[in-house]
Amino acid sequence: MASEWEVKRQICEVGRRMYEKNFVAANDGNISYRLGDGRYLCTPTGVSKGSLQPADIAVVDDQGKQLAGGMPRTSEIMLHLEIYHELPGINAVCHAHPPHATAFAVAGLELPTCILPEVEIFIGQVPIAEYNTPGTKTFAETILPHLRNKANTILLANHGAVACDQTLEQAYFHLETLDQYCRILLLAKQVGSIRQLSEGHVHELLQLKQNLGIDDPRLHSDAQVCTLAGSDEFLRGFSMQAIAQHTPDANGHGRGAGIAGAESQAGQAQPLPEQTRSFPAVVAGRQLAGAQAMGSSSETARKRAMDDQVERLVHLITDRIVQMAGNGRG
Ligand SMILES: [Zn+2]
Repeated sequence: MASEWEVKRQICEVGRRMYEKNFVAANDGNISYRLGDGRYLCTPTGVSKGSLQPADIAVVDDQGKQLAGGMPRTSEIMLHLEIYHELPGINAVCHAHPPHATAFAVAGLELPTCILPEVEIFIGQVPIAEYNTPGTKTFAETILPHLRNKANTILLANHGAVACDQTLEQAYFHLETLDQYCRILLLAKQVGSIRQLSEGHVHELLQLKQNLGIDDPRLHSDAQVCTLAGSDEFLRGFSMQAIAQHTPDANGHGRGAGIAGAESQAGQAQPLPEQTRSFPAVVAGRQLAGAQAMGSSSETARKRAMDDQVERLVHLITDRIVQMAGNGRG
């Protein structure tokens, strides 16, 4: 097991990534880790997550009472402890306000499912916990029903998101996956239609997920997997035609070679249904190229420049559609 100092250093690293990704502003957000002897490490209150030092990290007991550390512990510690008390296998919790995910939390819209493979495998269905005043015990308890339903990533109404897992990096990655998903949903709404994966393809993903040792409550339910409950408002007017299931093979996308040895298809041209081969298909190709470049770069400035480029592209497309409509061709 990593030394206490090493875990403190990892908390600082996760904090720096959260700040650079714009998941937190000013002193927002908090991170914690279960040491396993009834003690927990957590970030201090009133310190930017972008400039944390290992010496800043506080130590608390399982009631949130501070045991060590030069600065007062986060005011949100009860939210973290609620997770540790309910889920013994969880060792790390990250809470932030990722803007695209928080937009859905503010709008009170449940995220649609069965759209992106990585989302289905790594975070699954994302519930929204009811709003309550941050920092209170009542607020911490709003996530309880969702923890009992095995959610590892939860939207907090009119507030942000919280994610948990066995390691700090895994918990942080859930926030990244969540915000990227919400961003893609918002972009898709601007440039085209949202197509769901078929029930068959999603069952293949859930099987892969089980093989990876990640449980999903949908595997133990008789209910339809790809529900859109709660998402009607966001999806109104969209093409909800499922993507056709062409082959019987389970070819999943993954993080590197992480998914049961499945070969990654990232970057390969995928056949598109007839109706999407015109203008929107070209748009989708450009969008994909931009998204891949963002994922492979480690330079923050480059990512931000790419963000701007994608945004400009979306505006350009919108302007062209408006112009075409004005010329009687749209
Ligand atoms: Zn917060």
